[in-house]
Amino acid sequence: MTKYNHLFEPLKLKHTTLKNRVLMGSMHTGLEEAKNGYKKMAKFYGERAKGGVGLIVTGGIAPNFQGRVHPFASQLSFPWQVKHHKVVTEEVHKYDSKICLQILHTGRYAYHPFAISASKIKSPISPFKPRAISKIEIKKTIWDFANCAKLAKKAGYDGVEIMGSEGYLINQFICKATNIRTDEYGGEYKNRIRLACEIVKAVREKVGDDFIIIYRLSMLDLVKNGSTWDEVVYLGKELESLGVDIINTGIGWHETRLPTIATMVPRAAFAWVTEKFKPHVSIPVITTNRINDPQTANDLIKDGSCDMVSMARPFLADPDLMNKALADKADEINTCIGCNQACLDHVFKNQICSCLVNPKACHETEFEKTKADKKKRIAVIGSGPAGLSFAVEAAKLGHEVTIFEAKSQIGGQFNIAKEIPGKEEFHETIRYFKKQIELNNINLKLNTKVTIESLKDTDFDDFVFSTGIEPRIPKIVGVESDNVLTYSDVLLDKKAVGKKVAIIGAGGIGFDAAEFLAHNPAHKPTSLDKEAFYKEWGINVEHNTPGAIIDKESEKSFREIYLLQRKETKLGKSLGKTTGWIHRQSLVDKGINMIKGAQYDKIDSEGLHITVDGKKEILKVDTIVLCAGQVSVNKLYESFKEVDKRNCHLIGGAEKAFEIDAKRAIDQGVRLAYSI
Ligand code: NAP
Ligand code: SF4
Repeated sequence: MTKYNHLFEPLKLKHTTLKNRVLMGSMHTGLEEAKNGYKKMAKFYGERAKGGVGLIVTGGIAPNFQGRVHPFASQLSFPWQVKHHKVVTEEVHKYDSKICLQILHTGRYAYHPFAISASKIKSPISPFKPRAISKIEIKKTIWDFANCAKLAKKAGYDGVEIMGSEGYLINQFICKATNIRTDEYGGEYKNRIRLACEIVKAVREKVGDDFIIIYRLSMLDLVKNGSTWDEVVYLGKELESLGVDIINTGIGWHETRLPTIATMVPRAAFAWVTEKFKPHVSIPVITTNRINDPQTANDLIKDGSCDMVSMARPFLADPDLMNKALADKADEINTCIGCNQACLDHVFKNQICSCLVNPKACHETEFEKTKADKKKRIAVIGSGPAGLSFAVEAAKLGHEVTIFEAKSQIGGQFNIAKEIPGKEEFHETIRYFKKQIELNNINLKLNTKVTIESLKDTDFDDFVFSTGIEPRIPKIVGVESDNVLTYSDVLLDKKAVGKKVAIIGAGGIGFDAAEFLAHNPAHKPTSLDKEAFYKEWGINVEHNTPGAIIDKESEKSFREIYLLQRKETKLGKSLGKTTGWIHRQSLVDKGINMIKGAQYDKIDSEGLHITVDGKKEILKVDTIVLCAGQVSVNKLYESFKEVDKRNCHLIGGAEKAFEIDAKRAIDQGVRLAYSI
């Protein structure tokens, strides 16, 4: 019996039963439009079904051309398309899981000039101004939803999810902010929800009773002039009466300017809204957002906050999450760290979605080998993300692996990331690797600095050098002074930092260092403290203001901080597409001074001397922290391959320090393991 028994209780619906309480939530993967994409999708969803998920919802599929995310995005409107989807549903059904197709009409979020909406109001995040849809087109759109659902049924799906949240078309009709129509689809609330209700009614009529309809209801719009709580409840009741089987929770619109799923959002930070909604309907409700482990999910069901839990990204990170939970092996789960770097950031750049901690996600067909052709003895030098991912995958494929690590702990740069307030999830990846080292009998030698001589005397077949990077020391007069520290001194070695600080370099690490130094060490970190999170971002947990937003109460920085770069561009431009703005906003709210176009003249006991726009200035700071990028540590590799003819491989930052991040490092490690 698993300790997560609430997760594994079957859930009875009107005409069918789900085997457990976990939904793999909808995520666009990019496979929908890729060459042989449906076969790859079958493999992707099939692995998750095999891994124990009870119910899957696909990425959003448009019911018509106007509703597509972009001009080449997928749509299900014609009978000839059914066969593509059958490949997916048949694979999932092999494992006793159910799968629903999400019907998504983007409305004004469509990234093409044919975008339509309730009214002619442009979204702040789209370059395209939508056309206000006519009444005849509304009727046609309703028919398109129903037709899409009928085709989904033919393709073997168990149901559909109607996407009514996240600021897409249906949501655009519902909210006053985006609907200024004067016909029966605009004006009072009953009119604004007419489209949602007519779609549900038409879909139910077309598919009959033996087909699941999930409706994703925007319970928290988190935009100005969004729905009020009474409106949300009213719509929920209407949807139930129209034959919806399950209500899924939607949190925030895409244009919402506060984080809803990024790593600094505390786990289950939005489950309160589902809990508040649940007593108003008698059909099952699903809660969602930043739930990434079985314990949190189980507790939410146990305490009655919801009937089911949705997790999307956690199944990219680990397809076997449910089976591991069932076997009480949660410590073996490769946990989603909420970074968005390989999933949402990819999708928003029209790349195939994947996962930073699991590069095989959505690329399953490239990693079908289960055993190495020839077992080798392999030495891995360095245990950062590149070395660890190589070691674990190589060991799983049957190689005999030894890791040599000079420090007393594994993890490399992850040990820096985990120190940043709001990035505590990085602990999970280190925990995962530790467990995998144990499970796969990897020989780990900590506190072991290898030399050419010590390596020469071994009988390894291959050597993998993942010796990492070290902070770049920029050529600035006075850089060797006592008041100068590297980011590694500050974040890893915890050297003392004064109350006034200048940070040289505003890449990912510069931003992280600023966030770290802005916090009062005596306070709890943000990602563990829900109340602090709601205050910092202005979330109204009473839900008694439209859209549930209120004024922020941000805490000012504990130190006076200057964050500098030489480039003239806006600081933070190089950060992730879906999270960079959050890091920037967080620092702006804390009152961090951001200086672009800086020339560093010298450092002395007075502080940092700079020239900006031809004007000389002294930043009278106590400490200067260097976050000016990295250089590779690869001398051992270079020297060793000169004297030893065995196979040597160089990966991660040791191979290329420029813009090295964990995504590239882990991907490189995994791919080398499969090719060695
Ligand atoms: P980075 O992103 O390359 O940034 C280095 C910074 O140092 C830049 O602001 C650069 O700006 C400055 N710089 C470079 N050479 C310099 C020099 N000689 N003198 C003075 N300044 C110099 O590197 P990083 O911040 O160390 O991050 C490393 C990798 O980790 C990156 O790929 C990053 O994306 C990733 N990372 C991401 C995040 C995140 O997304 N939140 C967090 C941590 C790390 P100027 O040249 O304009 O001065
Ligand atoms: Fe989670 Fe990051 Fe992987 Fe996305 S890339 S699934 S956020 S760990």
